[in-house]
Amino acid sequence: MKNRVVIIGGGTAGWLTAGIIAARHCSKNSSAPSSMQETEVILVESPDVKNLGVGEGTWPTMRDTLRQIGLSERVFLSCCDASFKQASKFVGWSHGQNEHYYHPFTAPSGYGAVNMADHWSASDKDIEFERWVCAQGAICDKNLAPKLPQMPEYAFSLNYGYHLNAGKFVKILHQHCVEELGVKYIQGHVEQVLSAENGDISEIVLTDGEHIAGDLFIDCSGFAAILIGKHYQIPFKSKRGVLFNDTALALQVDHVSDDTPIASCTVATAQKNGWIWDISLQNRRGIGHVFSSDFTSVERAEEALFKYVKNDPLLVSQQLTPRTIKFDPGHRETFWHKNCIAIGVSAGFVEPLEATALVLIEKSAEWISQQLPRDRAAMSVLAKRFNALTLQRWQEIIDFLKLHYILSNRTDSEYWRAHQQADSIPESLQDALTLWRTQAPGLYETNQRFELFSSASKQYVLYGMGFNTEQKHQAQIFQKEAAMIKRFRNETLHTTEKLLSALPTNREFLRRVLKK
Ligand SMILES: Cc1cc2nc3c(=O)[nH]c(=O)nc-3n(C[C@H](O)[C@H](O)[C@H](O)COP(=O)(O)OP(=O)(O)OC[C@H]3O[C@@H](n4cnc5c(N)ncnc54)[C@H](O)[C@@H]3O)c2cc1C
Repeated sequence: MKNRVVIIGGGTAGWLTAGIIAARHCSKNSSAPSSMQETEVILVESPDVKNLGVGEGTWPTMRDTLRQIGLSERVFLSCCDASFKQASKFVGWSHGQNEHYYHPFTAPSGYGAVNMADHWSASDKDIEFERWVCAQGAICDKNLAPKLPQMPEYAFSLNYGYHLNAGKFVKILHQHCVEELGVKYIQGHVEQVLSAENGDISEIVLTDGEHIAGDLFIDCSGFAAILIGKHYQIPFKSKRGVLFNDTALALQVDHVSDDTPIASCTVATAQKNGWIWDISLQNRRGIGHVFSSDFTSVERAEEALFKYVKNDPLLVSQQLTPRTIKFDPGHRETFWHKNCIAIGVSAGFVEPLEATALVLIEKSAEWISQQLPRDRAAMSVLAKRFNALTLQRWQEIIDFLKLHYILSNRTDSEYWRAHQQADSIPESLQDALTLWRTQAPGLYETNQRFELFSSASKQYVLYGMGFNTEQKHQAQIFQKEAAMIKRFRNETLHTTEKLLSALPTNREFLRRVLKK
């Protein structure tokens, strides 16, 4: 008997999950005939419900995911109008003017050997933290690529993820999963869910009457959450009291010419009642305003968005009609119930800041693929572990995103003032802040092996936002580490200089590699 994994939903979550599981457990090109393969992956997609079609910024984890499922990077870049993401650039978050800082994907030099942030905090801080420890911000300033064209696929000089066209990404994943990995695709709308005696899902029934049986059902049905929400009624935990944004206006705007520079980072520009994302692809930019409807109206948010676009001479001026997406920021109470697992938006979504959704999909699918239950008894144990880990990850995401808001000095609107209110700040984050007032985040920050945000990420945001860590009783340690600090500082200076002169711009890189 085959182990049958049935995935509901053909958005990014569904196809990434299908690809990650199939790449490990089945393959169309494997030496075993398909009838002999032990695991079968089926993906069911409704012809009537569109997928989200947003979600265009990824983490560096996506490189591993694409490599692991066997997709060529050149094909991916070409088919998805994709480019490289090396950092997030935060504009106006601290004071509401044009000031900015980077959260780069490359860790500080010396990371793991010495805590550079402690030393920087004790210095006279005449250079910004990120420039003191990392070359990547300087590279982003010049719109440079993270690698040389002659480097192998997925290799890099500086760590990177991608900016991609979400609609095209789904198409290429679909094609690759079906043609190369042996995923079976069924188009059909799930109308009914049938249960076994133990409460497991035994079959799903499509509108045309087809029954599909399975051992494990993965709910990737987006906001519809047809298995985890509608069928099992697993409660949703709203986090609106912590992260206030609940509406997004999304636009796609063309570059003014084929030579327009392609940015190396996602730009997040703070607004009075939210922020605007700006993601640069080969041919266009994805720009959107995410905001809280408790503090402003769609009309006023639209005004801010149009102003942002109009003020940018590198964008074509055109008639713009944004798409409105409403969401309740939060997540399910549990994610794996009986023989059903929720991945993607069906499990939760808080907001696009720091692009945490796709990485959580990749990590969840990877965990499941590694731990695919061998029998029903094992499934219950795995479910407990998956639920504990995923809950921890949501808490980590929520704390890290909230950190961006509470470090702000902005008081120009009720939105920013409300973010500072103590009752909106999770206790875990308040504890961390207490610690960070006298010691920089370091390797001992967490006991988790699978943390999402390293202490490096926390350092970049804290010190980028002007947070002060007061160093006490450290003079002796600092003295002992002085030679090491000097070496790592020189390393950063040298790398920055070398890469600034060697790396091509994103545009040049893509032209050469894709021969466009
Ligand atoms: C404004 C915004 C910006 C974002 N930006 C980012 C970003 O930069 N980076 C990032 O990592 N994430 C981002 N995200 C999140 C990201 O878009 C999602 O995590 C991602 O698109 C995954 O969505 P999904 O596959 O879970 O759901 P969807 O894309 O909604 O797919 C749901 C699928 O389920 C199917 N379905 C629904 N009902 C049924 C049924 N009854 N029967 C059969 N099939 C059914 C649909 O047909 C569809 O195929 C953003 C989200 C928003 C809202």
